[in-house]
Amino acid sequence: MKIEADLHTHSVASGHAFSTLNEMAQQASLRGLKMIALTDHGINMPGGPHPYYFSQIMGLPENIGEVDLLKGVEANIIDPEGNLDMPVQLLERLDIVLAGFHCDTGYPAGSVDQNTMALMAAIRNPFVHIISHPGNPEYPVDLEKVVQAAKMAGKALEINNNSFSLSRPGSPPRCMQMARLAARAGILVSINSDAHSCFSVGIFDHAVEVAVRAGIKPEKVLNTSAAFIKEYIQSFGIMSQKIS
Ligand SMILES: [Zn+2]
Ligand SMILES: [Zn+2]
Repeated sequence: MKIEADLHTHSVASGHAFSTLNEMAQQASLRGLKMIALTDHGINMPGGPHPYYFSQIMGLPENIGEVDLLKGVEANIIDPEGNLDMPVQLLERLDIVLAGFHCDTGYPAGSVDQNTMALMAAIRNPFVHIISHPGNPEYPVDLEKVVQAAKMAGKALEINNNSFSLSRPGSPPRCMQMARLAARAGILVSINSDAHSCFSVGIFDHAVEVAVRAGIKPEKVLNTSAAFIKEYIQSFGIMSQKIS
């Protein structure tokens, strides 16, 4: 499976990551990627960016060298209603919005039912493009319900490569289960590095293996085509115009 874009990366702005945007983009280019999304953590993350950061992000170029740059955020789900820690005025100006659960950002893990309701509400949020690491066992969800909600909303769920190494211990079996359900339902998935330094940009080996083993077709993986990603994002533009 050939991956053209890394849609989940963190720069020094996240407060616990190590590389600058330029270093991330250069590494993406060296690894043969056509596109990178800068998705620093939402504003509730301890040590994370101030809202001013996300208003300045719009001034960044459309591409760095040969690599297209999407300006985004990995927002935090902050309550059982699936609300995010980012004002709508910022979300609507970003190219790409990931949303996921993170500790110390406002929503302590609840019951499986509460977590599932929160994640399903985030899936339905018209500004959210991708749900990050839904297989995180610290925030257990009913993966069947989550996959069905993603199918209804036409949203992508992530298989996060970092869940197989540094972050979120215990994730691999749940990522595999989610991938199998995603394959069966025919929903979109997104395979990302969740790089916290340039050295991890474009590293997807574990996540790709899980997707292939689960039987997910390459055309259902958002990242296999930068052109497909642009189409996917543009379809949201139409949606958000409709709701405003
Ligand atoms: Zn995350
Ligand atoms: Zn992340």
